[in-house]
Amino acid sequence: MSNKTLSLNAALYDYLLAVSLREPDVLERLRAETARDPMARMQSAPEQGQFMALLVQLSGASKCLEIGVFTGYSALWVALALPDDGRVVACDTSEKWTAIARRYWEEAGVAGRIRLHLAPAMETLDRLLDDGEAGSFDFAFIDADKGNYRNYYERSLQLLRPGGLIVIDNTLWSGDVADPSMQDVDTVAIRQLNEFIHQDTRVELSLLPVADGLTLVLKK
Ligand code: CA
Repeated sequence: MSNKTLSLNAALYDYLLAVSLREPDVLERLRAETARDPMARMQSAPEQGQFMALLVQLSGASKCLEIGVFTGYSALWVALALPDDGRVVACDTSEKWTAIARRYWEEAGVAGRIRLHLAPAMETLDRLLDDGEAGSFDFAFIDADKGNYRNYYERSLQLLRPGGLIVIDNTLWSGDVADPSMQDVDTVAIRQLNEFIHQDTRVELSLLPVADGLTLVLKK
């Protein structure tokens, strides 16, 4: 027994998946196809995708934002957890990766729930705000370029309704955030956002050591 978070060795991680993962076949195949891409490490872990789907169901979210789509794995978990009239507004700049995403969204029968914006996410987020969509989203997932994390956080907070949830990925960044010798721009950006959210009285938070670190932020 331990009152500290366990470090998962390979055997314990495999056990965790074996007794808890319910990954639909279409998601399993998408993950397998993405694993062949040299950038496969950008894909969310399966237990993380399932956890986000649970959060969507738990919060009754129907209007969701995703910043950073890659091959669409997490967006598909979220879309499958939504009610029929649920929507995901998805932001990415890669035609190549999102082409894979669209193929699996289509196959899963939820392509109609996901509106993909192929443009820099800041442009899309600012346009949503200009269109009067502030305060209308229930859920946001931030998982794109780390240098813009603070900007994505502020825009997401504006777009969310009170009681809405933001999930931020990679907030433990392979442990580099706790290593003062790591001063590259991505590590510094994540470290600064973590410290900022800790002091941000507009929100409640929890930083979970799930996968590469997952911060949950509840807008007050
Ligand atoms: Ca990520």
